[in-house]
Amino acid sequence: MVQLTELVEIVGAEHVLTGAATESYVTDWRERFVGEALAVVRPASTQDVVRIVHWCRNHGVALVPQGGNTGLCGGATPDPNRRSIVLSLVRMNVIRSIDTDNDTMVVEAGCILQNLQDAAREAGRLFPLSMGAEGSCTIGGNLATNAGGTQVLRYGNARELCLGLEVVCADGQVWNGLRGLRKDNTGYDLRNLFIGSEGTLGIITAATIKLYPQPVAQCTAMLALPSLQHAVTLLSLARQGFGASLTGFEVIARNCLEGVVQCFPEQRLPFMGEGAEQPWYALLELSDSESETHARERFEAVLGEALEQELAIDAVIAESGTQSYALWHLRESIPLAEKKFGKSIKHDISIPVSLIPDFVSNTNKLLQDKFPGVEHVTFGHLGDGNLHYNVAKGTAFTEDELLAQQNEIYRVVHDSVHHYHGSISAEHGIGQLKRDWLVDYKDPVELALMHRIKQALDPEHLLNPGKVLNI
Ligand code: FAD
Ligand code: ZN
Repeated sequence: MVQLTELVEIVGAEHVLTGAATESYVTDWRERFVGEALAVVRPASTQDVVRIVHWCRNHGVALVPQGGNTGLCGGATPDPNRRSIVLSLVRMNVIRSIDTDNDTMVVEAGCILQNLQDAAREAGRLFPLSMGAEGSCTIGGNLATNAGGTQVLRYGNARELCLGLEVVCADGQVWNGLRGLRKDNTGYDLRNLFIGSEGTLGIITAATIKLYPQPVAQCTAMLALPSLQHAVTLLSLARQGFGASLTGFEVIARNCLEGVVQCFPEQRLPFMGEGAEQPWYALLELSDSESETHARERFEAVLGEALEQELAIDAVIAESGTQSYALWHLRESIPLAEKKFGKSIKHDISIPVSLIPDFVSNTNKLLQDKFPGVEHVTFGHLGDGNLHYNVAKGTAFTEDELLAQQNEIYRVVHDSVHHYHGSISAEHGIGQLKRDWLVDYKDPVELALMHRIKQALDPEHLLNPGKVLNI
C-alpha cells in the first residue's frame, strides 16, 4: 500500500484527490476510456513537479500528465492496470512575462488557451492557436499533442507557435529551455522532441510562445458547394487571391451542419433554397493588415470569382462580428453535436489536399459496401489537408453495434489513408486509442528510433506508460 502523505506534504491535502474525487480526471472527454489512479495530484510550481517525480521514482508509480483533459485519444487517461497518479497541471496557470518587442510570452503549462488569447489581445498582440476546446484545454496539452486547430493554414501547428520549453525530465531534472529565440542552431532540437510527445518523454511546465500582430480587419463567409472537388478548387483560388491573408479554410458536409442545428436549435443554418441543398460547405476567413475596406474589397473579389466560375452555388458573408461568430460557432459545435448523438468512430487524418475528393468518395464506398447505412460525418481543415473523417451509427446501427465493428472500420479507413500516402493522426495524436495502429502504418525504422528515444529519456517507463508506444 503506497502512502500518499509525502504527496500531501508537497501540494497540500486539498490537491491530492482520491476515490470518487478522481472520477472526472480518469475519464476522457469522449468517455471512451475510464482509468484508475492512486491519486490526482495538483502541483502549483515546477519545484512541486520535481518533488512529485522523485516520489514517483521512489515508489515505482507511473505519472500521467494532464491539462484540460480534452484530448480525443485517451492520452491523459491512466491505464487501470498500472499503479499511477494523474499529474494535473491546471494550478500552474501563471503568465510569467510578456515581451512585446520580442513578440513572446512565457506561460505556465496549465494556462487555459483562451486566457492566453485574451492576454495577448490585451497586450495588443495575437496568439493564433484556436480550436473548439479553447475554453478548457491548456497550453501544456496543446504542446504535448502539437495541436492544430483552425488557424494552422496561416500560423502553423502548436509546434510552430513555440520557441522554448521548461520540462521536468523523468529523472527529476529541470531542462530550462525557455529561450525566446527564433534562430538557434546549437545542436539537437529538444524542444521539438518534447512537443507532440504526449507526456511520454517529459512534463512540460512552461513555454515561451510566439505572438503576432493583430489583424486590422477580418472577413468570414460560408459558401455552399456542389462537391468536394469544388472545395479543393476554391481553396486554390482563395490561396491565389488572398496569399498569407487566408487564415481559415474549413470544409463541412451538410449533415454535420444539420446535426448541429438539430442538437442546438438556437443555431441557424445560414442558407435557404438551393444553397441549403448542397452537399458541402466551406468556411473561409481572411485577415487583413490594412483596413476594413481593403479586406472587404479583396474578399468580395475572390468570392465573386468563385460564384462566377460556379465553384460555389451561394455565399453568405458575415456583416458583423456577431455574424462571423455565428458561422464559426456552427463549425466549432460539430464535435459537441457528434457527442450528443452518441459514440462514433473518429479518424483524424491528413492526406495531400489534391487527393481528398478521391479519398472521400472511395473510402465512403468501401465503408458502405462493408457496413451499409453507416453515417459519414466529414468535416475539417481542408486548407491543411486534414479531415475529421468520422463514422457514426446513423439510423442503421445501434451504438453498441457500431462499436463492435470499430476495429474493422479503423482498418478500412487507415488502409485507405495509407494507400493515399496520408497520416492516421493529423492533429489529435496517438494516445492509447491509436497506439496499436501505429505499428501497422509507421515506418519500422522510425518506430524503432522512437523506442530508443523513449528508452533514453525515460528508462523506467514512468511517464505516461502505454501511450503512443506500447511500453
Ligand atoms: P489533455 O487532454 O489533458 O492531455 C492531452 C495529452 O497531452 C495527454 O497525452 C497528456 O498526458 C499530455 N499532456 C497534457 N499536459 C501536459 C504537460 N503539461 N506536459 C506533458 N504532457 C502533457 N485538437 C486539435 O489539435 N485541433 C482541434 O481543432 C481540436 N478541436 C477540439 C475540439 C473539441 C470540442 C475537443 C473536446 C477537443 C479538440 N481537440 C482539438 C483535441 C484537444 O483539445 C487538444 O488536443 C488539446 O491540445 C488538448 O489539451 P488539454 O490541455 O486538454 O490536454
Ligand atoms: Zn480539428
